[in-house]
Amino acid sequence: MAYDPENIFAKILRGEIPCDNVYEDDTALAFKDINPQAPTHVLVIPKGTYESMDDFSKNGTEAEITGFFRAVGKVARDLGAVEAGYRFLANNGADAHQEVPHFHVHIFAGRDLGGMIKRV
Ligand code: 5GP
Repeated sequence: MAYDPENIFAKILRGEIPCDNVYEDDTALAFKDINPQAPTHVLVIPKGTYESMDDFSKNGTEAEITGFFRAVGKVARDLGAVEAGYRFLANNGADAHQEVPHFHVHIFAGRDLGGMIKRV
């Protein structure tokens, strides 16, 4: 599937729609989720046009991948989330309910986050 340049995070990256920016560097942008699921809920996205974790891990450059994951760790530290703990996750594809087709990691913190995944 080709990357959709009209997805909402592509528009945020291009500055066409606003975001509540918490961090930015050469490879990554982090901003608050519009519909937070925890007291702290931040999204970190690479600046490159990768639709998913699968795409990014296959096609991202070493510099992009290293820079991105260093940014995720830095954002969590800067949010003060390390001591009490945090969770980061990426939804990939339909079964994981990925809504936005631009790779992103969620960082959740600020409360007991419960077990790993919803039991059905
Ligand atoms: P996914 O299900 O793709 O892993 O998560 C997409 C996330 O993007 C959701 O948590 C949703 O609340 C968030 N989101 C969707 N549209 C916007 C937006 O326009 N701005 C921000 N800040 N977050 C968004």
